[in-house]
Amino acid sequence: MTERIGEWIRYETPADQIARVVMDRPDARNAQDLQMTYDLNEAFDKAVADDDIKVIILAGEDPHFSSGHDLSGDTSKTWRDFPVVSTWAGFDLPGAEGRFGREHEIYLDITERWRNLSKPMIAEVQGKCIAGGLMLAWACDLIVASDDAAFRDPVLEMGVCGVEFFSHPWEIGPRKAKEWLMTADWLTAEQALALGMLNHIVPRAELGDFTLDLAKRIANKPAFALKMTKEAVNQTMDAMGRKNAMQQVFSLHQLCHSHNQQVFNMAVDPTGFPEAVRKSLERKAAEAKNA
Ligand code: ZN
Repeated sequence: MTERIGEWIRYETPADQIARVVMDRPDARNAQDLQMTYDLNEAFDKAVADDDIKVIILAGEDPHFSSGHDLSGDTSKTWRDFPVVSTWAGFDLPGAEGRFGREHEIYLDITERWRNLSKPMIAEVQGKCIAGGLMLAWACDLIVASDDAAFRDPVLEMGVCGVEFFSHPWEIGPRKAKEWLMTADWLTAEQALALGMLNHIVPRAELGDFTLDLAKRIANKPAFALKMTKEAVNQTMDAMGRKNAMQQVFSLHQLCHSHNQQVFNMAVDPTGFPEAVRKSLERKAAEAKNA
């Protein structure tokens, strides 16, 4: 059975006890704007609230899992069109206040909320998984990738120290995390598997079936023990300092945005972008300054 949630999400129940949430915005490589964010949140809440669902799969419509946050904007919607779920608001306030509130809610707090959903989640990743797309995969408990999957956080090239949900050192270890961020290189599926970021790599054509089969095997286990096992591992990581570290790094991320705002009159450093993009960013910044 399939139903739609909002504009960008398909909610499927491909087997007993399993919900499959599919980002369905392939023409924008499943870019995550406000609409996508709150549609995802609604889909996850639906799966959590349904006692018949035991495992949730998160997938992206082909050809790519996720190109990350939608840098082109929010298709004329504002935060007031959506139900804010954390304690932050005022996304359009001037200066750092608006950006801090916006990114705290839609990147840090919502991703943390999804990470802590009370049912096992499996990410099904194919093609490119970039920046904000990493946050979606990392929020899941298990990650299955196709052999053509590739992972990249290019945010350093935009003058910022990695995406808002700073899980890199926890996913691949501190030494490799530094290299990956500082070079802004691609991580292949094989490299990500070897570093412990992935559970499995399968041929692209088998990705959906393999992930569903894994979900079925997990769904056969006792529901409460599954929830407690997820909690046990998540709480262990939090006791190791994950959550505190991530909140602290979020402040560094905001410091980078503020620095760029002061130096370049925009939240990112445009010098690393291709020339056409850089010129368009500089034009917009100049217009904003003169407005
Ligand atoms: Zn940011």
